[in-house]
Parts: sequence; structure tokens; C-alpha cells
Amino acid sequence: MKYDTLIVGAGPAGIFTAIEMLRRGSKKKILIVEKGKAVEKRSCPKAKTGHCMNCKPYCHITTGFSGAGAFSDGKLSLSASVGGDLPNLVGEDLVQQTIDYTDKIYLEFGADENIEGLNNDEEVKEIRRNAIRAGLRLVDCPIRHLGTEKNHEIYYAIEQYLLNNGVEILFGCECSNIILKDGKCLGIVAMINGNETEILADNTVIAAGRRGADWLEKICAAYNIAHQPGTVDIGVRVEVRNEVMETVNKVLYESKLIGYPRPFKNKVRTFCQNPGGFVSQENYDNDLAVVNGHSYKDFKSSNTNVAILCSHNFNQPFNQPIAYAQKIGELSNMLGAGHILVQRYGDILDGKRTWAKELAQSNVKPTLPDAVAGDITAAIPYRTMTNIINFIEAVDQVVPGFASYETLLYSPELKFYSNRIRMDEDFNTNVEGLHCLGDSSGWTRGLMMASVMGVLMGRKLS
Ligand SMILES: Cc1cc2nc3c(=O)[nH]c(=O)nc-3n(C[C@H](O)[C@H](O)[C@H](O)COP(=O)(O)OP(=O)(O)OC[C@H]3O[C@@H](n4cnc5c(N)ncnc54)[C@H](O)[C@@H]3O)c2cc1C
Repeated sequence: MKYDTLIVGAGPAGIFTAIEMLRRGSKKKILIVEKGKAVEKRSCPKAKTGHCMNCKPYCHITTGFSGAGAFSDGKLSLSASVGGDLPNLVGEDLVQQTIDYTDKIYLEFGADENIEGLNNDEEVKEIRRNAIRAGLRLVDCPIRHLGTEKNHEIYYAIEQYLLNNGVEILFGCECSNIILKDGKCLGIVAMINGNETEILADNTVIAAGRRGADWLEKICAAYNIAHQPGTVDIGVRVEVRNEVMETVNKVLYESKLIGYPRPFKNKVRTFCQNPGGFVSQENYDNDLAVVNGHSYKDFKSSNTNVAILCSHNFNQPFNQPIAYAQKIGELSNMLGAGHILVQRYGDILDGKRTWAKELAQSNVKPTLPDAVAGDITAAIPYRTMTNIINFIEAVDQVVPGFASYETLLYSPELKFYSNRIRMDEDFNTNVEGLHCLGDSSGWTRGLMMASVMGVLMGRKLS
């Protein structure tokens, strides 16, 4: 098997590489290998069973055509200051231009015309004034909200477009290794029908997503692919009643707040806000259960959830940030008997665990019913927990009621962006013919930025 371009992973980064190659009129032979299923065959059994079935060999939420994006809320962040550090690699202006370009592609495939977070100048000013008083920075970021259901339709249309235009996609095909000879990448080894098969290509693009970060780290170590340990984000998912977040939800849809609370002054931020949304669980291949959140376009809950993430950067001699975060996640899972833990904010301040019966006494009812009431502070390091508490107190000055007794904190919320691959601005690694994109490359953290990286790669490979 021999191709011009071989893409590992059919998430946004991988598929937008192929889309842009087609849009540029490229006649190159393109193959995408994807370990999951086609988007129309993806389904999470939790919709029927009501709880996570810990699917093997992989989680359907994060694996398959459109990657982690398929079941996501589909919030496209339309600002270059959100979604990762790609601007540091290729320049902010190019990223912003490519966001605008990529956004039009999403519109062509059926995205909603409406953009949230625009035209509310006076109200935004008021929120920013309160943020400044609280020592927080408010980041402006218009959002195009696809919604979980619509997301599926858009990615199905993209899948059909790629297949109808000659892009080959091998589903159920996991890449296990790369093939290197004389410092050049010649392709990959993948499992096809139970057999290890070599697939050769002039250019190999690894776009394996957050779930592939661990695997890619091993590949980097085995073949001396230049990389550096990156940031890892550890935090919680916070859930409150919609009434508490009403103003910011209406004015901004997503309030992106950043702070550096005392005493540690680490970066702490809000991330992935879901008005009327649902807290969800993702399972990693090693059985790690982590918390996330999403919202549907039309089906709304009474709650808003948002992540609070603390960035962790490590210095010499430690170079295993992913393993560090995993250990914290494992500890939290252990305390919750394999489930996500949930605790009321007031109980954390009072130094006690939360009991299930106490959750029932609150205005806010957990939207993740299989979360287990307990004590998240028994798993989260002191520094991280202090950062979270002090940040929540600051956010309370912008969103009164955020630091209420009944506010729910779910754990563990972990974001693995680690292992940043060293590349030039054309996404060449130090191995000829090998490129790394999207969340697994350490340069992106969101749907739009991963898609943009794909578009830029597609232009280079056309
Ligand atoms: C529940 C949830 C909600 C989210 N909500 C949002 C949101 O609203 N807005 C936002 O901007 N971002 C959101 N995100 C993050 C967003 O989905 C990711 O940032 C984005 O999908 C990254 O794109 P990617 O192409 O780099 O990787 P991914 O989307 O993760 O795709 C990687 C693909 O590679 C495949 N793969 C991995 N390893 C291999 C291998 N060895 N062989 C073959 N295939 C492999 C995987 O199966 C996967 O399909 C959310 C994520 C989750 C999980």
C-alpha cells in the first residue's frame, strides 16, 4: 500500500488536512486511517443504559470519524487567542485569517449562522469591569455553537464529501508504529483485519488527538522525535444553576476568565462553558474516567457547567506531566470506586465529604447521575486545590453565587496537551516526511484550532 499522504486519525486536524488538499485541487492519493468507526456508526451506549459502560477496545465518545469532536458541544472558538498555542508557531495573524477561512467551511457544511458573544458592548464592559476588580482577565471570543446533534450531521456531510472525492478512509484501523529508514519516515504499521500491515507514504501526518498523546510520546522517545514536555491542566468541572450564570451566558455564552491567584500565581482559567448543559464522563483506554461537559442545541438542562483548569509546568528533572495528571485521576477514580467524584463547594470549605442525601437538598441537581458524592480534596494536590478555591472566590465577584455552598465540583477534569512536538512553521518534525497535528502535537486544544492546523497542513501538502 503506497500513498502520497497518509493521515493517522480522522479528528478535525486530520480531516481538515484532506479537505484543504481537495479544495486546492490536489490530485494526490490520500489515505486516512482511523481506529474507530464512521461517524454514522458511532454511538455511546450510555444514551440507553444511563451510565458509562467503559467500552472496549475504545470509547465511542472520543474515537471514530470526527474524533473527540463528534459528541462534543461543537463550540467553535473564533479567536486566535483561544484553543492552543498555534499562534506561537505560525503567527497570530495567519491563525486568525485561517480561523475565518475554516469557519466558512463549517458554514458550507451546515453550521448555524448565529455567532454568540457579539454585539453586547455595554454588558461586556460591565462584566470586564467586575473581572478587573477581581483580578481576572476576560478574553473576548466569539463562539459558533454547532450543538451536539448538529455536529453529527456536519461531520457526516464532511465524511461523504471526502469519500466522494477520492479520499480513502480505513476505519477500525489502528496505527501501531511508524516506519523509519535513514532518518526519513516511510509510512506506518497498522492493524488491518487482524494483520500488521505496512502502509507507505511520502508524507505521514499524525493527528491522533488527546487520546493518542500517550502513544505518540512513546513513539517520540523510541525514534528521537524532538519534543518537550508541555503543560498539563488539572482541575474540576463546576456546575451551578442557570440562574447563577444567566448574565454571562446571555451576554458572552462562554465567559473565558483567566487569573493567577495567590499564593502560587499559577495560571487558572475557565474552559468549555455549557449553558443549559450536561456534565459527562469520558473513559481513557487505561480505564481512567475523567469528567467533561457538553450541551445540546435544543435540549437544555437547568444547570450550567464549566471547567476550572490549573496549568502545571514542570522543570528538570521531571518530564512526565501526563503520568503525573493520570496519577491524580487514578486516585480520584479509586476514591469514587471507578466513578467521577462530586462534592459541594461548601463541604470543601468546611473540610467534610459530601453525602448523596445532601446533594438532594440543593437547588442544583447533578446532571451526571452516576457521579459519586465524596471528597475530591483527598485526591487533588494542595497547590491545585488552593488555586481552584481562590479562583472560584474571584469568579464569584463576576458571577455572584458562583461560590455558593451548593456549587458542585466534579473531579478529575484533566487535559493532556503534553509532549509538544518540535516543528518548524511548515509542521516538519526533525524526521523527514513526518508531521504532527492537532491535540496530540501539543499545539492545539480545541475543535477550531485543530481544524486550522489541518487546513495549514493541507496547503503545504497539496
Ligand atoms: C466531550 C468533549 C467535548 C468537547 N467540546 C469541545 C468544544 O465544544 N469546543 C472545542 O473547541 N473543543 C471541544 N473538545 C475538544 C475537541 O474535541 C478536540 O480539541 C479536537 O477534537 C481535537 O482534534 P484532533 O483532530 O487533534 O483530535 P481528535 O478529535 O481527538 O481525533 C483524533 C482521532 O485519531 C484517532 N486515533 C488516535 N490514535 C490512533 C491510532 N493509533 N491509529 C488510528 N487512529 C487513531 C482517534 O480515534 C480519533 O478519532 C471537546 C472534547 C471532548 C472529549
